[in-house]
Amino acid sequence: MRAAVLRALPARELSVEAVEAPRGPDGWLEVAVEACGICGTDLHILAGESYRPELPFVLGHEPCGMVVRAYGDGGAGELLGKRVVASIFVGCGACAQCLIGNERLCERGARITGVAGLWGGFAERLALAPAQAVEVPGGLAPAEAAALVDAGATAHNAARVAHAHGEGRTLVLGGGPVGFLTASILRSLGRECAVVEPSGPRRELLAARGHATLASLDRQAADADIVIDCAAAEQNLPRSLERLRPRGLFLAVGYTRVPDLDMAVVSRKELTIRGIRSGRREDLVQVLQLAVKGVIDTPPVTVWPLERVNEALEQLRQQRVAGKAVITVG
Ligand SMILES: [Zn+2]
Ligand SMILES: [Zn+2]
Repeated sequence: MRAAVLRALPARELSVEAVEAPRGPDGWLEVAVEACGICGTDLHILAGESYRPELPFVLGHEPCGMVVRAYGDGGAGELLGKRVVASIFVGCGACAQCLIGNERLCERGARITGVAGLWGGFAERLALAPAQAVEVPGGLAPAEAAALVDAGATAHNAARVAHAHGEGRTLVLGGGPVGFLTASILRSLGRECAVVEPSGPRRELLAARGHATLASLDRQAADADIVIDCAAAEQNLPRSLERLRPRGLFLAVGYTRVPDLDMAVVSRKELTIRGIRSGRREDLVQVLQLAVKGVIDTPPVTVWPLERVNEALEQLRQQRVAGKAVITVG
């Protein structure tokens, strides 16, 4: 199969070449990839600052494709010939977190399609465990569905947790695909929110879709009850803690390191700091439904064919993509 192969770390580029297709365990599904989103995590992996998969490796953790068969003697059942996206975490299936549908929090460490342990979707073929496959509702094109796999599930998880925290003013930090989708889902829940985004083109895009925007947290006069940090800039946490009202919630969606943090404000205001790691399978199911029903607005998608994946990565690195970047295959 043709694939964009990660051959070294750190790396500037992937090597687009012919490699042997992965073979999943018996009963797993062989998927003919049609599209796969690119996520900021891909750039962090390439830069050597994130997960370090065993090489050679195929990245791509936002895949969408057609189920062509099951490995081994068994059939692919109802999923044969269906378009699916992947819930990307594969846990041990036996620990307390796996048993309640939190495979991504597996106590034994989850494998992650396209990130760690399982080859991903920057390739013509992909192996998925049957439990990973989520059927794409009719009406969503492969690139549109791929744009929601991680970004959409993450945003849905973050918006769900924020909504459960209670009422109040919400700030979303970062207007990339995750922030955009988080704001859209919050709006569908009837919540007031503003998106803080330094990039002019991204702010214009958000404003055109009816979202309130701010260029920086500093210019934000009003305080907030909930801050959802999808940008993970180093200063976001300390600044947000100052902005939050008593009993406020900070959701760390992006990953970052905060070198010097005075936790006194957390005690004084009884704030909560909570992490968000991607989303549950159910979050992915829900966000696909919201998108296909037109309940939420989705970011515009820019596509590149697999052979030009390195161009797409470079455009993202230079922050020239206002919406979602997606690789198309075949
Ligand atoms: Zn991602
Ligand atoms: Zn587990």
